[in-house]
Amino acid sequence: MLKGIGASDGIGVGRVMLIAEQSLEYTPREIADVNAELERYKAAVDKFCDSTMEQADAIRKSTGEKEAEILLGHIAIIRDPFMGGEIENLIKAHQCAEAAVDQICKMFIDMFSATGDDLTMQRAADVRDIRDGVIGNLLGIQEVKISDAPAGTVLVVKELTPSMTAGIKKENIVGIVTETGSQTSHSAILARALEIPAVLSVPNAVTQLSTDELIIVDGGSGDVITAPSQEQIGEYTAKREVFLREKREMETFRGKPTVSADGVEYELFCNIGTPKDATKAMEADGEGVGLFRTEFLFMDRDRLPTEDEQFEAYKQASLILKGKPLIIRTLDIGGDKEIPYLGLAKEENPFMGFRAIRYCLKNRDMFKSQIKAILRASAFGDIRIMFPLITAVEELRAGKALVEEAKADLKASGIAFDENISVGVMTETAASGVIADLLAKEADFFSIGTNDLTGYTMAADRGNSDVGYLYSPLQPGVLRMIRRIIECGRAEGIPVGMCGEAAASPVMIPLLMSFGLTEFSVSAPSVLKVRKNIAKWTKAEADAVAEKVMAMTTEAEISAYLKSII
Ligand code: PEP
Ligand code: MG
Repeated sequence: MLKGIGASDGIGVGRVMLIAEQSLEYTPREIADVNAELERYKAAVDKFCDSTMEQADAIRKSTGEKEAEILLGHIAIIRDPFMGGEIENLIKAHQCAEAAVDQICKMFIDMFSATGDDLTMQRAADVRDIRDGVIGNLLGIQEVKISDAPAGTVLVVKELTPSMTAGIKKENIVGIVTETGSQTSHSAILARALEIPAVLSVPNAVTQLSTDELIIVDGGSGDVITAPSQEQIGEYTAKREVFLREKREMETFRGKPTVSADGVEYELFCNIGTPKDATKAMEADGEGVGLFRTEFLFMDRDRLPTEDEQFEAYKQASLILKGKPLIIRTLDIGGDKEIPYLGLAKEENPFMGFRAIRYCLKNRDMFKSQIKAILRASAFGDIRIMFPLITAVEELRAGKALVEEAKADLKASGIAFDENISVGVMTETAASGVIADLLAKEADFFSIGTNDLTGYTMAADRGNSDVGYLYSPLQPGVLRMIRRIIECGRAEGIPVGMCGEAAASPVMIPLLMSFGLTEFSVSAPSVLKVRKNIAKWTKAEADAVAEKVMAMTTEAEISAYLKSII
Protein backbone atom coordinates (compact mmCIF):
# COMPACT_ATOMS: atom_id res chain seq x y z
CA MET A 1 0.00 0.00 0.00
CA LEU A 2 1.18 3.53 -0.75
CA LYS A 3 0.25 6.44 1.44
CA GLY A 4 -0.44 10.03 0.52
CA ILE A 5 -2.79 12.86 1.36
CA GLY A 6 -6.47 12.18 0.74
CA ALA A 7 -7.43 15.31 -1.17
CA SER A 8 -10.67 14.53 -2.95
CA ASP A 9 -13.07 12.14 -1.27
CA GLY A 10 -14.39 8.97 -2.85
CA ILE A 11 -13.17 5.54 -3.90
CA GLY A 12 -11.79 4.68 -7.33
CA VAL A 13 -10.90 1.20 -8.54
CA GLY A 14 -9.13 1.20 -11.88
CA ARG A 15 -6.07 0.73 -14.05
CA VAL A 16 -3.06 3.03 -13.97
CA MET A 17 -2.20 5.43 -16.78
CA LEU A 18 1.25 6.88 -16.14
CA ILE A 19 1.97 10.37 -17.36
CA ALA A 20 5.76 10.59 -17.31
CA GLU A 21 7.72 13.72 -18.12
CA GLN A 22 9.32 13.46 -21.52
CA SER A 23 12.54 15.01 -22.71
CA LEU A 24 12.86 16.44 -26.20
CA GLU A 25 16.63 16.38 -26.12
CA TYR A 26 18.43 15.09 -29.21
CA THR A 27 22.02 14.84 -30.39
CA PRO A 28 22.59 16.90 -33.55
CA ARG A 29 24.30 14.78 -36.20
CA GLU A 30 25.32 14.93 -39.84
CA ILE A 31 23.30 12.60 -42.03
CA ALA A 32 24.51 10.78 -45.12
CA ASP A 33 21.24 9.62 -46.70
CA VAL A 34 19.40 12.87 -47.39
CA ASN A 35 16.39 11.21 -49.04
CA ALA A 36 15.79 8.85 -46.13
CA GLU A 37 16.00 11.78 -43.70
CA LEU A 38 13.53 13.79 -45.79
CA GLU A 39 11.12 10.85 -45.67
CA ARG A 40 11.58 10.57 -41.91
CA TYR A 41 10.83 14.28 -41.57
CA LYS A 42 7.72 14.09 -43.77
CA ALA A 43 6.39 11.09 -41.83
CA ALA A 44 6.83 13.02 -38.56
CA VAL A 45 4.93 16.00 -40.00
CA ASP A 46 2.13 13.77 -41.34
CA LYS A 47 1.76 12.13 -37.95
CA PHE A 48 1.70 15.54 -36.26
CA CYS A 49 -1.01 16.77 -38.67
CA ASP A 50 -3.12 13.62 -38.21
CA SER A 51 -3.11 13.82 -34.44
CA THR A 52 -3.71 17.58 -34.50
CA MET A 53 -6.70 17.00 -36.76
CA GLU A 54 -8.06 14.41 -34.30
CA GLN A 55 -7.56 16.78 -31.36
CA ALA A 56 -9.30 19.57 -33.29
CA ASP A 57 -12.30 17.31 -33.92
CA ALA A 58 -12.49 16.44 -30.23
CA ILE A 59 -12.23 20.07 -29.16
CA ARG A 60 -14.83 21.13 -31.72
CA LYS A 61 -17.26 18.72 -30.07
CA SER A 62 -16.37 19.52 -26.45
CA THR A 63 -15.67 23.24 -26.62
CA GLY A 64 -16.35 24.87 -29.97
CA GLU A 65 -15.28 25.81 -33.46
CA LYS A 66 -13.07 28.73 -32.40
CA GLU A 67 -10.88 26.51 -30.21
CA ALA A 68 -10.66 23.88 -32.96
CA GLU A 69 -9.47 26.51 -35.42
CA ILE A 70 -6.49 27.32 -33.23
CA LEU A 71 -5.28 23.74 -33.66
CA LEU A 72 -6.06 23.67 -37.36
CA GLY A 73 -3.85 26.75 -37.62
CA HIS A 74 -0.91 24.58 -36.51
CA ILE A 75 -1.38 22.38 -39.54
CA ALA A 76 -1.47 25.42 -41.83
CA ILE A 77 1.82 26.69 -40.38
CA ILE A 78 3.78 23.44 -40.68
CA ARG A 79 2.36 22.81 -44.16
CA ASP A 80 3.38 26.32 -45.22
CA PRO A 81 5.72 25.87 -48.22
CA PHE A 82 8.16 28.50 -46.99
CA MET A 83 8.67 27.03 -43.54
CA GLY A 84 8.68 23.45 -44.81
CA GLY A 85 11.03 24.45 -47.64
CA GLU A 86 13.52 26.00 -45.24
CA ILE A 87 13.52 22.88 -43.06
CA GLU A 88 14.02 20.65 -46.09
CA ASN A 89 16.90 22.84 -47.28
CA LEU A 90 18.73 22.26 -44.00
CA ILE A 91 18.17 18.51 -44.27
CA LYS A 92 19.49 18.63 -47.85
CA ALA A 93 22.56 20.32 -46.35
CA HIS A 94 22.98 17.09 -44.28
CA GLN A 95 21.54 18.30 -40.97
CA CYS A 96 19.43 15.78 -39.07
CA ALA A 97 15.66 16.42 -39.14
CA GLU A 98 15.47 17.24 -35.40
CA ALA A 99 18.08 19.99 -35.73
CA ALA A 100 16.52 21.33 -38.94
CA VAL A 101 13.04 21.60 -37.36
CA ASP A 102 14.49 23.09 -34.19
CA GLN A 103 16.54 25.72 -36.02
CA ILE A 104 13.82 26.93 -38.38
CA CYS A 105 11.13 26.92 -35.70
CA LYS A 106 13.43 28.89 -33.42
CA MET A 107 13.93 31.44 -36.18
CA PHE A 108 10.15 31.90 -36.50
CA ILE A 109 9.64 31.95 -32.72
CA ASP A 110 12.27 34.71 -32.32
CA MET A 111 10.84 36.66 -35.23
CA PHE A 112 7.22 36.48 -33.96
CA SER A 113 8.20 37.14 -30.35
CA ALA A 114 10.09 40.29 -31.28
CA THR A 115 7.08 42.04 -32.81
CA GLY A 116 5.46 42.94 -29.49
CA ASP A 117 2.10 42.54 -31.22
CA ASP A 118 -0.28 40.30 -29.24
CA LEU A 119 -1.65 38.37 -32.17
CA THR A 120 1.71 37.77 -33.80
CA MET A 121 3.25 36.76 -30.50
CA GLN A 122 0.54 34.12 -30.16
CA ARG A 123 1.98 32.67 -33.39
CA ALA A 124 5.27 32.11 -31.54
CA ALA A 125 3.41 29.89 -29.07
CA ASP A 126 1.87 27.98 -31.98
CA VAL A 127 5.30 27.38 -33.52
CA ARG A 128 6.62 26.19 -30.15
CA ASP A 129 3.81 23.61 -30.00
CA ILE A 130 4.56 22.52 -33.55
CA ARG A 131 8.29 22.17 -32.83
CA ASP A 132 7.64 20.06 -29.72
CA GLY A 133 5.13 17.88 -31.54
CA VAL A 134 7.26 17.22 -34.63
CA ILE A 135 10.51 16.68 -32.69
CA GLY A 136 8.60 14.39 -30.32
CA ASN A 137 7.48 12.33 -33.33
CA LEU A 138 11.03 12.23 -34.74
CA LEU A 139 12.31 10.95 -31.40
CA GLY A 140 9.54 8.37 -31.32
CA ILE A 141 8.10 9.73 -28.09
CA GLN A 142 4.66 8.30 -27.50
CA GLU A 143 2.42 11.16 -26.60
CA VAL A 144 0.13 10.16 -23.77
CA LYS A 145 -3.18 11.86 -24.27
CA ILE A 146 -5.23 12.20 -21.11
CA SER A 147 -8.33 12.77 -23.21
CA ASP A 148 -7.84 9.30 -24.74
CA ALA A 149 -7.80 7.55 -21.35
CA PRO A 150 -10.29 4.67 -21.41
CA ALA A 151 -13.06 4.22 -18.85
CA GLY A 152 -11.77 3.06 -15.45
CA THR A 153 -8.45 4.93 -15.62
CA VAL A 154 -6.44 6.11 -12.60
CA LEU A 155 -4.15 8.96 -13.66
CA VAL A 156 -0.72 8.80 -12.04
CA VAL A 157 1.36 11.92 -12.54
CA LYS A 158 4.12 13.84 -10.81
CA GLU A 159 2.09 17.03 -10.68
CA LEU A 160 -1.37 17.68 -11.98
CA THR A 161 -1.36 21.01 -13.78
CA PRO A 162 -4.43 23.05 -14.63
CA SER A 163 -3.77 22.55 -18.35
CA MET A 164 -3.68 18.78 -17.87
CA THR A 165 -7.08 18.84 -16.25
CA ALA A 166 -8.45 20.42 -19.42
CA GLY A 167 -8.06 17.00 -21.07
CA ILE A 168 -9.74 14.99 -18.32
CA LYS A 169 -12.97 13.27 -19.22
CA LYS A 170 -14.75 12.91 -15.91
CA GLU A 171 -16.63 9.80 -16.91
CA ASN A 172 -13.39 7.92 -17.69
CA ILE A 173 -11.05 8.95 -14.87
CA VAL A 174 -11.87 7.12 -11.63
CA GLY A 175 -8.91 8.34 -9.59
CA ILE A 176 -5.87 10.61 -9.49
CA VAL A 177 -2.54 9.96 -7.78
CA THR A 178 0.21 12.59 -7.72
CA GLU A 179 3.66 12.97 -6.17
CA THR A 180 3.18 16.58 -5.11
CA GLY A 181 0.47 18.73 -3.58
CA SER A 182 -1.60 18.95 -0.44
CA GLN A 183 -5.25 19.34 0.60
CA THR A 184 -5.18 22.93 -0.55
CA SER A 185 -2.90 22.80 -3.58
CA HIS A 186 -4.44 23.57 -6.90
CA SER A 187 -4.39 19.93 -7.99
CA ALA A 188 -6.56 19.09 -4.98
CA ILE A 189 -8.94 21.91 -5.68
CA LEU A 190 -9.22 20.82 -9.31
CA ALA A 191 -9.75 17.16 -8.39
CA ARG A 192 -12.52 18.10 -6.00
CA ALA A 193 -14.14 20.33 -8.59
CA LEU A 194 -14.17 17.34 -10.97
CA GLU A 195 -15.39 15.04 -8.15
CA ILE A 196 -12.62 12.55 -8.86
CA PRO A 197 -11.10 10.68 -5.85
CA ALA A 198 -7.51 11.87 -5.44
CA VAL A 199 -4.50 11.01 -3.32
CA LEU A 200 -1.64 13.51 -3.51
CA SER A 201 1.95 13.62 -2.28
CA VAL A 202 2.56 9.90 -2.73
CA PRO A 203 6.38 9.63 -2.71
CA ASN A 204 7.73 8.29 -6.03
CA ALA A 205 4.27 7.31 -7.26
CA VAL A 206 5.38 7.52 -10.89
CA THR A 207 8.23 5.06 -10.42
CA GLN A 208 6.37 2.79 -8.01
CA LEU A 209 3.33 2.25 -10.21
CA SER A 210 3.19 0.92 -13.74
CA THR A 211 0.78 1.41 -16.59
CA ASP A 212 -2.25 -0.93 -16.60
CA GLU A 213 -1.68 -2.05 -13.01
CA LEU A 214 -4.96 -2.39 -11.07
CA ILE A 215 -5.09 -0.16 -7.98
CA ILE A 216 -7.58 1.28 -5.50
CA VAL A 217 -7.55 4.99 -4.65
CA ASP A 218 -9.15 6.06 -1.38
CA GLY A 219 -9.41 9.82 -1.59
CA GLY A 220 -10.72 10.04 1.97
CA SER A 221 -7.95 8.21 3.84
CA GLY A 222 -5.13 8.88 1.37
CA ASP A 223 -4.48 5.16 0.79
CA VAL A 224 -3.44 3.74 -2.57
CA ILE A 225 -3.84 -0.03 -2.52
CA THR A 226 -1.60 -1.84 -4.97
CA ALA A 227 -2.18 -5.42 -6.14
CA PRO A 228 -5.54 -5.56 -4.32
CA SER A 229 -6.97 -8.95 -3.37
CA GLN A 230 -10.51 -9.95 -4.42
CA GLU A 231 -11.52 -9.36 -0.81
CA GLN A 232 -10.14 -5.81 -0.84
CA ILE A 233 -11.83 -5.05 -4.14
CA GLY A 234 -15.13 -6.20 -2.60
CA GLU A 235 -14.55 -4.19 0.57
CA TYR A 236 -13.75 -0.99 -1.30
CA THR A 237 -16.56 -1.41 -3.78
CA ALA A 238 -18.93 -1.58 -0.78
CA LYS A 239 -17.27 1.53 0.69
CA ARG A 240 -17.83 3.28 -2.59
CA GLU A 241 -21.53 2.42 -2.44
CA VAL A 242 -21.80 3.94 1.06
CA PHE A 243 -20.01 7.07 -0.12
CA LEU A 244 -22.34 7.44 -3.08
CA ARG A 245 -25.42 6.81 -0.89
CA GLU A 246 -24.40 9.57 1.53
CA LYS A 247 -23.95 11.82 -1.44
CA ARG A 248 -27.51 11.08 -2.48
CA GLU A 249 -28.74 11.95 1.03
CA MET A 250 -27.04 15.29 0.68
CA GLU A 251 -29.30 15.92 -2.29
CA THR A 252 -32.23 16.42 0.09
CA PHE A 253 -30.65 19.78 0.97
CA ARG A 254 -30.81 21.00 -2.61
CA GLY A 255 -32.94 24.09 -3.18
CA LYS A 256 -33.21 24.76 0.56
CA PRO A 257 -31.93 27.89 2.30
CA THR A 258 -28.77 27.59 4.43
CA VAL A 259 -30.01 27.81 8.02
CA SER A 260 -28.89 26.59 11.43
CA ALA A 261 -31.09 24.26 13.47
CA ASP A 262 -32.53 27.33 15.21
CA GLY A 263 -33.18 29.27 12.04
CA VAL A 264 -30.15 31.58 11.69
CA GLU A 265 -29.51 32.18 7.98
CA TYR A 266 -26.07 31.98 6.38
CA GLU A 267 -24.79 32.68 2.89
CA LEU A 268 -23.31 29.68 1.13
CA PHE A 269 -21.16 30.62 -1.85
CA CYS A 270 -18.78 28.77 -4.19
CA ASN A 271 -15.15 29.20 -5.17
CA ILE A 272 -14.56 29.30 -8.92
CA GLY A 273 -11.62 29.64 -11.31
CA THR A 274 -13.29 30.28 -14.67
CA PRO A 275 -16.60 31.71 -15.90
CA LYS A 276 -17.62 28.14 -16.79
CA ASP A 277 -17.25 27.18 -13.14
CA ALA A 278 -20.00 29.70 -12.39
CA THR A 279 -22.39 27.29 -14.11
CA LYS A 280 -21.08 24.49 -11.88
CA ALA A 281 -21.59 26.74 -8.85
CA MET A 282 -25.21 27.28 -9.83
CA GLU A 283 -25.73 23.58 -10.58
CA ALA A 284 -24.28 22.78 -7.17
CA ASP A 285 -26.91 25.08 -5.60
CA GLY A 286 -24.42 27.76 -4.56
CA GLU A 287 -25.99 31.07 -3.55
CA GLY A 288 -23.29 33.12 -5.23
CA VAL A 289 -19.52 33.14 -5.69
CA GLY A 290 -17.35 34.05 -2.72
CA LEU A 291 -14.05 33.70 -4.55
CA PHE A 292 -13.31 33.96 -8.27
CA ARG A 293 -9.62 33.05 -8.56
CA THR A 294 -8.81 35.25 -11.55
CA GLU A 295 -5.28 33.90 -11.98
CA PHE A 296 -6.71 31.03 -14.06
CA LEU A 297 -7.53 33.63 -16.74
CA PHE A 298 -3.83 34.51 -16.79
CA MET A 299 -2.49 30.94 -16.86
CA ASP A 300 -1.98 28.58 -19.79
CA ARG A 301 -1.39 31.33 -22.26
CA ASP A 302 1.51 33.35 -23.60
CA ARG A 303 0.47 36.88 -22.80
CA LEU A 304 -1.68 38.92 -20.47
CA PRO A 305 -5.42 38.81 -21.11
CA THR A 306 -6.58 42.20 -22.38
CA GLU A 307 -9.05 44.38 -20.47
CA ASP A 308 -11.76 43.40 -22.96
CA GLU A 309 -11.03 39.69 -22.60
CA GLN A 310 -11.22 39.99 -18.83
CA PHE A 311 -14.38 42.08 -19.00
CA GLU A 312 -16.04 39.39 -21.12
CA ALA A 313 -15.02 36.67 -18.63
CA TYR A 314 -16.25 38.58 -15.56
CA LYS A 315 -19.44 39.64 -17.32
CA GLN A 316 -20.10 36.06 -18.44
CA ALA A 317 -19.68 34.75 -14.88
CA SER A 318 -21.95 37.50 -13.55
CA LEU A 319 -24.67 36.81 -16.11
CA ILE A 320 -24.58 33.11 -15.22
CA LEU A 321 -25.13 34.05 -11.57
CA LYS A 322 -28.23 36.05 -12.51
CA GLY A 323 -27.79 38.80 -9.95
CA LYS A 324 -26.31 36.62 -7.20
CA PRO A 325 -23.13 38.00 -5.60
CA LEU A 326 -19.79 37.51 -7.38
CA ILE A 327 -16.64 38.31 -5.40
CA ILE A 328 -13.75 38.72 -7.81
CA ARG A 329 -10.29 38.41 -6.32
CA THR A 330 -7.68 40.43 -8.16
CA LEU A 331 -4.64 38.65 -9.55
CA ASP A 332 -2.98 36.42 -6.95
CA ILE A 333 0.25 35.21 -8.50
CA GLY A 334 3.57 34.13 -7.05
CA GLY A 335 4.10 31.46 -4.39
CA ASP A 336 2.75 28.26 -5.92
CA LYS A 337 1.03 30.10 -8.76
CA GLU A 338 3.43 30.74 -11.60
CA ILE A 339 2.74 32.66 -14.78
CA PRO A 340 5.82 32.12 -16.95
CA TYR A 341 5.34 35.00 -19.38
CA LEU A 342 5.37 37.58 -16.58
CA GLY A 343 9.04 36.71 -16.14
CA LEU A 344 8.97 36.97 -12.35
CA ALA A 345 12.49 36.77 -10.98
CA LYS A 346 13.36 33.61 -9.06
CA GLU A 347 13.20 34.39 -5.38
CA GLU A 348 14.80 32.73 -2.38
CA ASN A 349 11.47 32.67 -0.63
CA PRO A 350 8.62 33.24 -3.07
CA PHE A 351 5.86 32.81 -0.46
CA MET A 352 7.25 35.82 1.37
CA GLY A 353 8.16 37.67 -1.76
CA PHE A 354 6.95 39.81 -4.60
CA ARG A 355 3.50 38.38 -5.20
CA ALA A 356 -0.26 39.06 -5.36
CA ILE A 357 -1.24 42.62 -4.33
CA ARG A 358 2.45 43.50 -3.94
CA TYR A 359 3.17 42.68 -7.58
CA CYS A 360 -0.05 44.27 -8.80
CA LEU A 361 0.56 47.59 -7.05
CA LYS A 362 3.96 47.81 -8.74
CA ASN A 363 2.50 46.90 -12.15
CA ARG A 364 -0.17 49.51 -12.17
CA ASP A 365 -1.17 49.37 -15.85
CA MET A 366 -1.85 45.67 -15.65
CA PHE A 367 -3.66 46.05 -12.32
CA LYS A 368 -5.73 48.97 -13.50
CA SER A 369 -6.84 47.12 -16.58
CA GLN A 370 -8.06 44.26 -14.39
CA ILE A 371 -9.90 46.66 -12.09
CA LYS A 372 -11.48 48.43 -15.06
CA ALA A 373 -12.60 45.10 -16.47
CA ILE A 374 -14.20 44.20 -13.12
CA LEU A 375 -15.87 47.61 -12.84
CA ARG A 376 -17.26 47.38 -16.39
CA ALA A 377 -18.67 43.94 -15.58
CA SER A 378 -20.25 45.33 -12.40
CA ALA A 379 -22.88 46.97 -14.59
CA PHE A 380 -24.22 43.45 -15.23
CA GLY A 381 -24.64 42.04 -11.73
CA ASP A 382 -23.72 42.14 -8.05
CA ILE A 383 -19.93 42.22 -8.34
CA ARG A 384 -17.49 42.90 -5.49
CA ILE A 385 -13.71 43.36 -5.58
CA MET A 386 -11.36 41.56 -3.21
CA PHE A 387 -7.61 42.11 -2.76
CA PRO A 388 -5.42 39.09 -1.88
CA LEU A 389 -2.50 38.93 0.55
CA ILE A 390 -3.09 42.27 2.25
CA THR A 391 -0.61 42.80 5.09
CA ALA A 392 -0.79 46.54 5.67
CA VAL A 393 -3.44 49.26 5.56
CA GLU A 394 -1.40 51.15 2.95
CA GLU A 395 -1.92 48.31 0.48
CA LEU A 396 -5.67 48.47 0.91
CA ARG A 397 -5.59 52.25 0.51
CA ALA A 398 -3.42 52.03 -2.62
CA GLY A 399 -5.73 49.40 -4.12
CA LYS A 400 -8.80 51.48 -3.32
CA ALA A 401 -7.15 54.58 -4.82
CA LEU A 402 -6.60 52.64 -8.04
CA VAL A 403 -10.27 51.61 -8.03
CA GLU A 404 -11.19 55.30 -7.77
CA GLU A 405 -8.84 56.18 -10.66
CA ALA A 406 -10.33 53.42 -12.77
CA LYS A 407 -13.83 54.70 -11.95
CA ALA A 408 -12.85 58.22 -13.03
CA ASP A 409 -11.46 56.90 -16.33
CA LEU A 410 -14.63 54.96 -17.04
CA LYS A 411 -16.81 57.91 -16.12
CA ALA A 412 -14.85 60.14 -18.49
CA SER A 413 -15.49 57.62 -21.27
CA GLY A 414 -19.18 57.34 -20.40
CA ILE A 415 -18.92 53.64 -19.51
CA ALA A 416 -21.40 52.21 -17.00
CA PHE A 417 -20.33 50.54 -13.75
CA ASP A 418 -21.54 50.09 -10.17
CA GLU A 419 -20.57 53.32 -8.38
CA ASN A 420 -20.98 51.64 -4.98
CA ILE A 421 -18.99 48.52 -5.66
CA SER A 422 -17.73 46.91 -2.44
CA VAL A 423 -14.00 46.54 -1.96
CA GLY A 424 -12.96 43.84 0.49
CA VAL A 425 -9.87 42.27 1.95
CA MET A 426 -8.86 38.66 1.85
CA THR A 427 -7.48 38.12 5.33
CA GLU A 428 -4.90 35.43 4.77
CA THR A 429 -1.67 36.70 6.31
CA ALA A 430 -0.77 36.80 9.98
CA ALA A 431 -0.49 40.60 9.85
CA SER A 432 -3.94 41.00 8.35
CA GLY A 433 -5.32 39.04 11.30
CA VAL A 434 -3.42 41.08 13.85
CA ILE A 435 -4.46 44.40 12.28
CA ALA A 436 -7.98 43.21 11.42
CA ASP A 437 -9.31 46.00 13.68
CA LEU A 438 -7.58 48.61 11.51
CA LEU A 439 -8.45 46.98 8.20
CA ALA A 440 -12.10 46.58 9.18
CA LYS A 441 -12.42 50.36 9.38
CA GLU A 442 -11.47 50.75 5.71
CA ALA A 443 -12.69 47.55 4.05
CA ASP A 444 -16.25 46.81 2.97
CA PHE A 445 -15.93 43.12 3.85
CA PHE A 446 -13.49 40.41 4.89
CA SER A 447 -13.05 36.94 3.50
CA ILE A 448 -10.76 34.66 5.48
CA GLY A 449 -8.37 32.69 3.32
CA THR A 450 -7.49 29.89 5.71
CA ASN A 451 -5.30 28.06 3.20
CA ASP A 452 -2.70 30.80 3.42
CA LEU A 453 -3.69 32.12 6.85
CA THR A 454 -2.83 28.74 8.36
CA GLY A 455 0.54 28.70 6.61
CA TYR A 456 1.46 32.26 7.43
CA THR A 457 0.29 32.01 11.04
CA MET A 458 2.05 28.72 11.70
CA ALA A 459 5.07 29.52 9.48
CA ALA A 460 4.42 26.15 7.82
CA ASP A 461 4.37 25.59 4.07
CA ARG A 462 1.04 24.16 2.93
CA GLY A 463 2.75 21.85 0.45
CA ASN A 464 5.47 20.45 2.74
CA SER A 465 4.43 17.18 4.36
CA ASP A 466 7.26 17.38 6.92
CA VAL A 467 5.57 20.32 8.59
CA GLY A 468 2.06 19.00 7.95
CA TYR A 469 1.49 18.47 11.67
CA LEU A 470 1.63 22.26 12.11
CA TYR A 471 -0.42 23.09 9.07
CA SER A 472 -3.90 22.78 10.56
CA PRO A 473 -6.68 25.34 10.98
CA LEU A 474 -7.40 23.62 14.30
CA GLN A 475 -4.13 24.86 15.77
CA PRO A 476 -4.99 27.17 18.69
CA GLY A 477 -2.94 29.91 16.98
CA VAL A 478 -5.01 29.74 13.81
CA LEU A 479 -8.34 29.47 15.62
CA ARG A 480 -7.51 32.59 17.63
CA MET A 481 -6.60 34.38 14.44
CA ILE A 482 -9.89 33.38 12.78
CA ARG A 483 -11.94 34.38 15.82
CA ARG A 484 -10.17 37.73 15.98
CA ILE A 485 -10.79 38.53 12.32
CA ILE A 486 -14.49 37.74 12.65
CA GLU A 487 -14.82 39.76 15.85
CA CYS A 488 -13.02 42.77 14.36
CA GLY A 489 -15.23 42.63 11.27
CA ARG A 490 -18.37 42.42 13.38
CA ALA A 491 -17.24 45.31 15.58
CA GLU A 492 -17.14 47.54 12.49
CA GLY A 493 -20.36 46.08 11.10
CA ILE A 494 -18.83 44.53 7.96
CA PRO A 495 -19.66 41.02 6.74
CA VAL A 496 -17.03 38.35 7.28
CA GLY A 497 -16.87 35.25 5.11
CA MET A 498 -14.42 32.42 4.67
CA CYS A 499 -13.20 31.17 1.30
CA GLY A 500 -10.37 28.89 2.44
CA GLU A 501 -10.87 25.14 2.44
CA ALA A 502 -11.58 25.15 6.20
CA ALA A 503 -15.01 26.65 5.47
CA ALA A 504 -16.12 23.21 4.26
CA SER A 505 -14.68 21.25 7.17
CA PRO A 506 -17.44 19.65 9.29
CA VAL A 507 -15.38 20.13 12.47
CA MET A 508 -14.80 23.81 11.78
CA ILE A 509 -18.43 24.64 11.05
CA PRO A 510 -19.76 24.88 14.65
CA LEU A 511 -16.75 27.01 15.60
CA LEU A 512 -17.29 29.39 12.69
CA MET A 513 -21.01 29.63 13.47
CA SER A 514 -20.20 30.50 17.05
CA PHE A 515 -17.55 33.08 16.15
CA GLY A 516 -20.11 34.85 13.95
CA LEU A 517 -19.09 34.06 10.39
CA THR A 518 -21.89 34.99 8.00
CA GLU A 519 -20.73 33.56 4.68
CA PHE A 520 -19.13 30.24 3.72
CA SER A 521 -17.49 29.92 0.29
CA VAL A 522 -16.59 26.38 -0.68
CA SER A 523 -15.90 24.21 -3.73
CA ALA A 524 -19.04 23.36 -5.71
CA PRO A 525 -19.20 19.68 -4.65
CA SER A 526 -19.11 20.72 -0.96
CA VAL A 527 -22.14 23.03 -1.05
CA LEU A 528 -24.79 20.52 0.02
CA LYS A 529 -22.51 18.90 2.58
CA VAL A 530 -21.87 22.28 4.23
CA ARG A 531 -25.58 23.15 4.18
CA LYS A 532 -26.32 19.82 5.87
CA ASN A 533 -23.63 20.46 8.50
CA ILE A 534 -24.83 23.98 9.26
CA ALA A 535 -28.37 22.65 9.71
CA LYS A 536 -27.12 20.32 12.47
CA TRP A 537 -26.27 23.03 15.00
CA THR A 538 -28.15 25.60 17.05
CA LYS A 539 -26.26 28.73 18.06
CA ALA A 540 -26.26 27.63 21.70
CA GLU A 541 -24.81 24.21 20.82
CA ALA A 542 -22.16 25.78 18.59
CA ASP A 543 -21.24 28.24 21.35
CA ALA A 544 -20.80 25.41 23.83
CA VAL A 545 -18.46 23.59 21.45
CA ALA A 546 -16.47 26.75 20.74
CA GLU A 547 -16.12 27.54 24.41
CA LYS A 548 -14.67 24.10 25.12
CA VAL A 549 -12.35 24.20 22.11
CA MET A 550 -10.99 27.66 22.86
CA ALA A 551 -10.03 26.48 26.34
CA MET A 552 -7.97 23.60 24.95
CA THR A 553 -4.23 23.91 24.41
CA THR A 554 -3.20 21.55 21.62
CA GLU A 555 -4.33 20.77 18.11
CA ALA A 556 -4.43 17.06 18.92
CA GLU A 557 -6.82 17.63 21.82
CA ILE A 558 -9.05 19.95 19.77
CA SER A 559 -9.10 17.63 16.80
CA ALA A 560 -9.90 14.54 18.87
CA TYR A 561 -12.71 16.34 20.71
CA LEU A 562 -14.31 17.75 17.55
CA LYS A 563 -14.13 14.40 15.77
CA SER A 564 -15.86 12.77 18.73
CA ILE A 565 -18.86 15.10 18.55
CA ILE A 566 -19.60 15.35 14.84
C1 PEP B 1 -6.68 30.90 0.75
O1 PEP B 1 -5.50 31.28 0.81
O2 PEP B 1 -7.30 30.44 1.71
C2 PEP B 1 -7.43 30.98 -0.52
C3 PEP B 1 -8.73 30.71 -0.56
O3 PEP B 1 -6.77 31.34 -1.64
P1 PEP B 1 -5.79 30.44 -2.50
O4 PEP B 1 -6.02 29.00 -2.08
O5 PEP B 1 -6.15 30.70 -3.91
O6 PEP B 1 -4.44 30.96 -2.12
MG1 MG C 1 -4.50 32.52 -0.65
